[in-house]
Amino acid sequence: RLGDMTRRFALMIDPVAAVEQRADYADTFTQVDAAAPALSVGELSTQRGDGVFESIGVIDGHAQEVVPHLERLAHSARLCDLPVPNQEQWRQAIQQAAAQLGAGESVIKLILSRGVEHGPTPTAWVTAAPAADFAAVRRNGVKVVTLDRGYDLGAAERAPWLLLGAKTLSYAVNMAALREAKRRGADDAIFLSSDGFVLEAPTASLILRFGDRFTTPAPNGGILHGTTQLSVYAHLLARGFEVGYDRIPAADLTRADAAWLVSSVRLATAITAVDGTPVAVDAALTDDLNAYLLSPRD
Ligand code: PLP
Repeated sequence: RLGDMTRRFALMIDPVAAVEQRADYADTFTQVDAAAPALSVGELSTQRGDGVFESIGVIDGHAQEVVPHLERLAHSARLCDLPVPNQEQWRQAIQQAAAQLGAGESVIKLILSRGVEHGPTPTAWVTAAPAADFAAVRRNGVKVVTLDRGYDLGAAERAPWLLLGAKTLSYAVNMAALREAKRRGADDAIFLSSDGFVLEAPTASLILRFGDRFTTPAPNGGILHGTTQLSVYAHLLARGFEVGYDRIPAADLTRADAAWLVSSVRLATAITAVDGTPVAVDAALTDDLNAYLLSPRD
Protein backbone atom coordinates (compact mmCIF):
# COMPACT_ATOMS: atom_id res chain seq x y z
CA ARG A 1 0.00 0.00 0.00
CA LEU A 2 2.63 2.50 1.08
CA GLY A 3 4.72 1.59 -1.98
CA ASP A 4 1.68 2.35 -4.09
CA MET A 5 1.20 5.78 -2.49
CA THR A 6 4.70 6.91 -3.34
CA ARG A 7 3.99 6.18 -7.00
CA ARG A 8 1.04 8.61 -7.31
CA PHE A 9 2.09 12.19 -7.98
CA ALA A 10 1.88 15.03 -10.46
CA LEU A 11 4.39 17.40 -11.98
CA MET A 12 2.85 20.79 -12.58
CA ILE A 13 4.42 22.28 -15.71
CA ASP A 14 5.01 25.99 -16.12
CA PRO A 15 4.27 26.33 -19.85
CA VAL A 16 7.22 27.51 -21.94
CA ALA A 17 6.64 28.60 -25.55
CA ALA A 18 7.35 25.93 -28.14
CA VAL A 19 10.01 28.13 -29.81
CA GLU A 20 12.06 28.60 -26.63
CA GLN A 21 14.91 26.05 -26.56
CA ARG A 22 16.70 25.24 -23.31
CA ALA A 23 18.94 22.32 -22.32
CA ASP A 24 17.21 21.79 -19.00
CA TYR A 25 13.59 22.49 -18.08
CA ALA A 26 13.71 21.01 -14.54
CA ASP A 27 13.01 24.38 -12.89
CA THR A 28 9.68 24.61 -14.81
CA PHE A 29 8.32 21.52 -12.98
CA THR A 30 6.79 21.44 -9.51
CA GLN A 31 6.15 18.01 -8.03
CA VAL A 32 3.00 17.59 -5.93
CA ASP A 33 1.58 14.56 -4.18
CA ALA A 34 -1.51 13.21 -5.96
CA ALA A 35 -3.57 13.85 -2.80
CA ALA A 36 -2.43 17.50 -2.44
CA PRO A 37 -4.49 20.41 -3.83
CA ALA A 38 -3.03 21.64 -7.11
CA LEU A 39 -5.75 23.10 -9.38
CA SER A 40 -7.78 26.29 -9.14
CA VAL A 41 -11.58 25.97 -8.95
CA GLY A 42 -11.63 28.27 -11.99
CA GLU A 43 -9.97 25.58 -14.14
CA LEU A 44 -11.66 25.28 -17.54
CA SER A 45 -10.52 21.65 -17.77
CA THR A 46 -12.75 20.78 -14.82
CA GLN A 47 -15.58 23.21 -15.68
CA ARG A 48 -15.83 22.44 -19.39
CA GLY A 49 -13.49 19.57 -20.19
CA ASP A 50 -11.69 22.19 -22.28
CA GLY A 51 -8.26 20.73 -22.85
CA VAL A 52 -6.40 17.80 -24.37
CA PHE A 53 -4.59 14.81 -22.91
CA GLU A 54 -2.55 11.66 -23.50
CA SER A 55 -2.15 8.40 -21.55
CA ILE A 56 1.27 6.76 -21.84
CA GLY A 57 2.04 3.20 -20.75
CA VAL A 58 5.15 2.83 -18.57
CA ILE A 59 6.81 -0.59 -18.25
CA ASP A 60 9.44 -1.03 -15.51
CA GLY A 61 10.09 2.72 -15.55
CA HIS A 62 10.32 3.00 -19.36
CA ALA A 63 7.73 5.35 -20.89
CA GLN A 64 6.55 3.81 -24.19
CA GLU A 65 6.33 5.67 -27.50
CA VAL A 66 6.89 9.12 -25.98
CA VAL A 67 7.40 10.96 -29.29
CA PRO A 68 4.20 9.63 -30.97
CA HIS A 69 2.23 10.64 -27.86
CA LEU A 70 3.83 14.12 -27.83
CA GLU A 71 3.08 14.51 -31.54
CA ARG A 72 -0.56 13.57 -31.01
CA LEU A 73 -0.76 15.98 -28.03
CA ALA A 74 0.51 18.75 -30.33
CA HIS A 75 -2.00 17.72 -33.03
CA SER A 76 -4.87 17.82 -30.49
CA ALA A 77 -3.66 21.21 -29.20
CA ARG A 78 -3.66 22.65 -32.75
CA LEU A 79 -7.19 21.39 -33.42
CA CYS A 80 -8.33 23.08 -30.18
CA ASP A 81 -6.44 26.38 -30.76
CA LEU A 82 -4.33 25.73 -27.67
CA PRO A 83 -0.65 26.80 -27.61
CA VAL A 84 1.45 24.01 -29.12
CA PRO A 85 3.37 22.30 -26.29
CA ASN A 86 7.16 22.60 -26.07
CA GLN A 87 8.07 19.01 -27.01
CA GLU A 88 11.47 18.95 -25.27
CA GLN A 89 10.01 20.40 -22.05
CA TRP A 90 7.25 17.75 -21.97
CA ARG A 91 9.73 14.99 -22.85
CA GLN A 92 11.83 15.99 -19.84
CA ALA A 93 8.74 16.06 -17.58
CA ILE A 94 7.86 12.51 -18.71
CA GLN A 95 11.46 11.37 -18.09
CA GLN A 96 11.47 12.94 -14.61
CA ALA A 97 8.18 11.22 -13.74
CA ALA A 98 9.15 7.84 -15.25
CA ALA A 99 12.47 7.82 -13.38
CA GLN A 100 10.50 7.71 -10.10
CA LEU A 101 8.36 4.72 -11.13
CA GLY A 102 9.49 1.26 -10.11
CA ALA A 103 9.00 -2.18 -11.62
CA GLY A 104 5.68 -3.17 -13.15
CA GLU A 105 3.15 -1.29 -15.25
CA SER A 106 2.32 2.37 -14.63
CA VAL A 107 0.58 5.14 -16.48
CA ILE A 108 1.70 8.71 -17.11
CA LYS A 109 -0.97 11.15 -18.25
CA LEU A 110 -0.24 14.45 -19.98
CA ILE A 111 -2.84 17.18 -19.57
CA LEU A 112 -2.93 20.53 -21.34
CA SER A 113 -5.91 22.63 -20.25
CA ARG A 114 -7.28 25.95 -21.52
CA GLY A 115 -6.30 27.23 -18.05
CA VAL A 116 -8.11 29.27 -15.45
CA GLU A 117 -11.06 31.35 -16.65
CA HIS A 118 -9.76 34.82 -17.71
CA GLY A 119 -6.23 33.63 -16.80
CA PRO A 120 -3.17 34.40 -18.92
CA THR A 121 -1.85 30.90 -19.67
CA PRO A 122 -2.94 27.30 -20.15
CA THR A 123 -2.49 24.91 -17.24
CA ALA A 124 -0.30 21.88 -17.86
CA TRP A 125 0.66 18.89 -15.80
CA VAL A 126 1.59 15.23 -15.94
CA THR A 127 0.39 12.58 -13.50
CA ALA A 128 2.00 9.25 -12.62
CA ALA A 129 0.22 6.28 -11.03
CA PRO A 130 0.27 2.48 -11.04
CA ALA A 131 -1.72 0.92 -13.91
CA ALA A 132 -4.68 -1.36 -13.23
CA ASP A 133 -3.97 -5.10 -13.52
CA PHE A 134 -4.93 -6.07 -17.08
CA ALA A 135 -3.45 -9.60 -17.04
CA ALA A 136 -6.89 -11.30 -16.92
CA VAL A 137 -8.45 -9.18 -19.68
CA ARG A 138 -5.40 -9.70 -21.92
CA ARG A 139 -5.80 -13.45 -21.39
CA ASN A 140 -9.63 -13.71 -21.61
CA GLY A 141 -10.52 -10.98 -24.11
CA VAL A 142 -13.61 -8.77 -24.15
CA LYS A 143 -17.22 -9.08 -25.29
CA VAL A 144 -18.31 -5.90 -27.08
CA VAL A 145 -21.53 -4.31 -28.24
CA THR A 146 -21.83 -1.91 -31.17
CA LEU A 147 -23.21 1.56 -30.34
CA ASP A 148 -24.28 4.37 -32.69
CA ARG A 149 -21.88 7.35 -32.40
CA GLY A 150 -24.45 9.60 -34.08
CA TYR A 151 -22.34 11.06 -36.89
CA ASP A 152 -21.39 9.82 -40.36
CA LEU A 153 -17.88 9.27 -41.74
CA GLY A 154 -17.89 12.72 -43.37
CA ALA A 155 -18.59 14.66 -40.15
CA ALA A 156 -14.94 15.17 -39.13
CA GLU A 157 -14.11 16.94 -42.38
CA ARG A 158 -17.45 18.80 -42.67
CA ALA A 159 -17.55 20.03 -39.06
CA PRO A 160 -14.01 20.51 -37.66
CA TRP A 161 -15.43 22.30 -34.57
CA LEU A 162 -16.61 18.88 -33.37
CA LEU A 163 -12.87 18.20 -32.71
CA LEU A 164 -13.33 14.57 -33.73
CA GLY A 165 -9.63 13.88 -34.33
CA ALA A 166 -8.51 15.52 -31.05
CA LYS A 167 -8.01 13.66 -27.77
CA THR A 168 -9.95 16.17 -25.68
CA LEU A 169 -10.68 15.88 -21.96
CA SER A 170 -14.42 15.62 -22.73
CA TYR A 171 -14.77 11.85 -22.22
CA ALA A 172 -18.26 11.90 -20.63
CA VAL A 173 -19.75 10.37 -23.82
CA ASN A 174 -17.05 7.67 -23.96
CA MET A 175 -17.69 6.76 -20.31
CA ALA A 176 -21.48 6.68 -20.89
CA ALA A 177 -20.92 4.24 -23.78
CA LEU A 178 -18.94 1.94 -21.48
CA ARG A 179 -21.79 2.01 -18.92
CA GLU A 180 -24.28 1.17 -21.70
CA ALA A 181 -22.06 -1.75 -22.76
CA LYS A 182 -22.06 -3.07 -19.17
CA ARG A 183 -25.87 -2.67 -18.97
CA ARG A 184 -26.07 -4.89 -22.06
CA GLY A 185 -23.88 -7.53 -20.40
CA ALA A 186 -20.71 -6.73 -22.39
CA ASP A 187 -17.26 -5.48 -21.35
CA ASP A 188 -16.66 -2.79 -23.94
CA ALA A 189 -18.20 -0.96 -26.89
CA ILE A 190 -17.42 -0.30 -30.52
CA PHE A 191 -18.79 2.93 -31.95
CA LEU A 192 -20.43 2.81 -35.38
CA SER A 193 -20.88 5.80 -37.66
CA SER A 194 -24.50 6.69 -38.47
CA ASP A 195 -23.84 5.37 -42.01
CA GLY A 196 -22.92 1.94 -40.64
CA PHE A 197 -19.12 1.88 -40.53
CA VAL A 198 -16.85 0.79 -37.69
CA LEU A 199 -15.10 3.64 -35.81
CA GLU A 200 -13.26 2.84 -32.55
CA ALA A 201 -13.89 1.84 -28.93
CA PRO A 202 -14.40 4.53 -26.22
CA THR A 203 -10.74 4.17 -25.12
CA ALA A 204 -9.12 1.97 -27.78
CA SER A 205 -8.56 1.42 -31.49
CA LEU A 206 -9.82 -1.62 -33.37
CA ILE A 207 -7.76 -3.98 -35.55
CA LEU A 208 -9.31 -6.82 -37.62
CA ARG A 209 -7.53 -9.76 -39.24
CA PHE A 210 -8.64 -11.26 -42.58
CA GLY A 211 -6.21 -14.00 -43.57
CA ASP A 212 -2.73 -12.45 -43.63
CA ARG A 213 -4.08 -8.90 -43.99
CA PHE A 214 -4.91 -6.62 -41.06
CA THR A 215 -7.20 -3.62 -41.28
CA THR A 216 -8.26 -0.71 -39.07
CA PRO A 217 -10.74 2.14 -39.66
CA ALA A 218 -9.12 5.05 -41.55
CA PRO A 219 -8.30 7.83 -39.06
CA ASN A 220 -9.86 10.59 -41.22
CA GLY A 221 -13.33 9.25 -40.34
CA GLY A 222 -13.62 11.07 -37.01
CA ILE A 223 -11.53 8.85 -34.74
CA LEU A 224 -8.20 9.13 -32.93
CA HIS A 225 -5.18 7.75 -34.70
CA GLY A 226 -3.99 5.27 -32.06
CA THR A 227 -0.30 5.14 -31.17
CA THR A 228 -0.69 1.44 -30.24
CA GLN A 229 -2.32 0.62 -33.58
CA LEU A 230 0.60 2.32 -35.37
CA SER A 231 3.11 0.38 -33.28
CA VAL A 232 1.27 -2.94 -33.84
CA TYR A 233 1.23 -2.25 -37.60
CA ALA A 234 5.02 -1.75 -37.61
CA HIS A 235 5.40 -5.07 -35.76
CA LEU A 236 3.01 -6.90 -38.14
CA LEU A 237 4.83 -5.50 -41.20
CA ALA A 238 8.14 -6.70 -39.75
CA ARG A 239 6.57 -10.15 -39.37
CA GLY A 240 5.64 -10.12 -43.09
CA PHE A 241 1.91 -9.41 -42.80
CA GLU A 242 -0.04 -6.90 -44.89
CA VAL A 243 -1.72 -3.92 -43.16
CA GLY A 244 -4.14 -1.23 -44.33
CA TYR A 245 -6.67 1.48 -43.48
CA ASP A 246 -10.23 1.03 -44.74
CA ARG A 247 -13.91 1.89 -44.49
CA ILE A 248 -15.11 -1.16 -42.57
CA PRO A 249 -18.83 -2.01 -42.68
CA ALA A 250 -20.23 -3.15 -39.31
CA ALA A 251 -21.05 -6.58 -40.77
CA ASP A 252 -17.29 -7.25 -41.21
CA LEU A 253 -16.80 -7.42 -37.42
CA THR A 254 -18.11 -10.98 -37.10
CA ARG A 255 -16.59 -12.09 -40.46
CA ALA A 256 -13.03 -11.38 -39.26
CA ASP A 257 -10.54 -14.19 -38.54
CA ALA A 258 -9.67 -12.30 -35.34
CA ALA A 259 -10.27 -8.84 -33.86
CA TRP A 260 -8.57 -6.79 -31.14
CA LEU A 261 -8.99 -3.60 -29.17
CA VAL A 262 -5.58 -1.96 -28.71
CA SER A 263 -4.56 0.95 -26.48
CA SER A 264 -1.52 2.27 -24.65
CA VAL A 265 -2.13 0.91 -21.15
CA ARG A 266 -4.46 -2.11 -21.55
CA LEU A 267 -2.49 -3.11 -24.70
CA ALA A 268 -4.07 -5.81 -26.96
CA THR A 269 -7.29 -7.54 -25.95
CA ALA A 270 -9.01 -10.07 -28.20
CA ILE A 271 -12.65 -9.40 -29.04
CA THR A 272 -14.53 -12.65 -28.28
CA ALA A 273 -18.08 -11.58 -29.24
CA VAL A 274 -19.88 -8.70 -30.97
CA ASP A 275 -23.53 -8.09 -29.96
CA GLY A 276 -23.71 -11.70 -28.70
CA THR A 277 -22.23 -13.28 -31.87
CA PRO A 278 -18.92 -15.08 -31.23
CA VAL A 279 -15.77 -13.81 -33.00
CA ALA A 280 -12.81 -16.09 -33.78
CA VAL A 281 -9.92 -15.65 -31.32
CA ASP A 282 -6.22 -15.89 -32.25
CA ALA A 283 -4.71 -16.55 -28.82
CA ALA A 284 -1.15 -17.10 -30.12
CA LEU A 285 -1.08 -13.78 -31.96
CA THR A 286 -2.68 -11.99 -29.00
CA ASP A 287 0.16 -13.25 -26.78
CA ASP A 288 2.73 -12.24 -29.41
CA LEU A 289 1.25 -8.73 -29.69
CA ASN A 290 1.27 -8.25 -25.91
CA ALA A 291 4.84 -9.55 -25.59
CA TYR A 292 5.82 -6.99 -28.24
CA LEU A 293 3.78 -4.19 -26.64
CA LEU A 294 5.35 -4.92 -23.21
CA SER A 295 8.89 -4.72 -24.62
CA PRO A 296 10.62 -1.30 -24.46
CA ARG A 297 9.44 0.83 -27.41
CA ASP A 298 10.46 4.36 -28.42
N1 PLP B 1 -9.43 5.86 -29.42
C1 PLP B 1 -9.81 6.50 -28.29
C2 PLP B 1 -11.11 7.21 -28.27
C3 PLP B 1 -8.96 6.51 -27.16
O1 PLP B 1 -9.33 7.15 -26.05
C4 PLP B 1 -7.73 5.82 -27.23
C5 PLP B 1 -6.81 5.79 -26.09
O2 PLP B 1 -7.13 6.05 -24.97
C6 PLP B 1 -7.39 5.15 -28.40
C7 PLP B 1 -8.26 5.21 -29.49
C8 PLP B 1 -6.10 4.38 -28.51
O3 PLP B 1 -5.01 5.26 -28.57
P1 PLP B 1 -3.57 4.83 -28.06
O4 PLP B 1 -3.23 3.54 -28.73
O5 PLP B 1 -2.69 5.93 -28.50
O6 PLP B 1 -3.64 4.68 -26.57
